[in-house]
Amino acid sequence: MIAILKQGVTKQERDNLIKWFKNQNVDVHVSEGEYQTILGLIGDTSVFNTDFIENIDIVESVKRVSEPFKNANRKFHPDDTVINTCGLKIGGGNFQYMAGPCSVESEEQIIEVAKAVKASGANILRGGAFKPRTSPYAFQGMGKDGLDLLLLAKKETGMPIVTEIMNANHIQLFEDVDIIQVGARNMQNFELLKELGRIRKPILLKRGLANTMQELLMSAEYILAGGNEEVILCERGIRTFETYTRNTLDLAAVPKLKELSHLPVIVDPSHATGYRNLVKPMAMAAVACGSDGLMIEVHNDPAHALCDGAQSLTPDAFTDVVNACENIRKVL
Ligand code: PEP
Ligand code: MN
Repeated sequence: MIAILKQGVTKQERDNLIKWFKNQNVDVHVSEGEYQTILGLIGDTSVFNTDFIENIDIVESVKRVSEPFKNANRKFHPDDTVINTCGLKIGGGNFQYMAGPCSVESEEQIIEVAKAVKASGANILRGGAFKPRTSPYAFQGMGKDGLDLLLLAKKETGMPIVTEIMNANHIQLFEDVDIIQVGARNMQNFELLKELGRIRKPILLKRGLANTMQELLMSAEYILAGGNEEVILCERGIRTFETYTRNTLDLAAVPKLKELSHLPVIVDPSHATGYRNLVKPMAMAAVACGSDGLMIEVHNDPAHALCDGAQSLTPDAFTDVVNACENIRKVL
């Protein structure tokens, strides 16, 4: 349920109403927009009679929110959420390029790729240190050493870093990481999501391999419910019957998620397609349909990449993608 307050309501009047709601065991999320203040009520709101609340003198109107996601719901928070990482903004009209290798492989590799993607126009460096691999025999990532190398690359280039967490016990290791990624395979690792709700750092939440938009929003809700309001959603393709692409990029999810939620939405055309020749057209399409950013895999030597070489762009190809996307952004 949401209660929209009348204009000109004093802080004291508002706080009294919040206290009254809290006394009846509901949690109150306050969204203060430019023109209106909205109280979002979370909990068992069936005890409230809408007519009764609408008749409170400082309340303009009341609506029931039928969706199970509350904090993530645009009805609770009509303005776009804008994430700020090291002074870079994502969402609310701010667009960012995240780029880098699938996995951190060595100091030379990550520094070289970091410098290259920065020169091409990327502003956030990606790179996996803890890798979720289908095979236990495949390269599992460099772990803590990989995180240290990402931090070194950040120092060398000034770019904030985004990297994946797989285990809640590792949160302390991620203290200096700017954006923590939850990968598709962990989108419904609810214990991990709860722990990430307790910290105050942006979380990039990727859509699961076979998850609906509502399930993605419910996973975001776990993080938001813990008090961490900085969640970025990422569409990275879902599994369908198609086999010519690694996944099927669900671009309609971008405008739909932005309609349902105030959270920024970015697109990963690399994992979505699995092939480097499909990355540019899908990146351009993602920009055109309103994505707040892109995450793209770039490797200095894709043929010898330890992970996801087939979908990795060379730095030159990445420059071409950024230029094409910038042209689309100008048209928009
Ligand atoms: C990744 O970004 O490296 C990754 C493993 O992506 P996803 O979780 O989308 O498969
Ligand atoms: Mn990858």
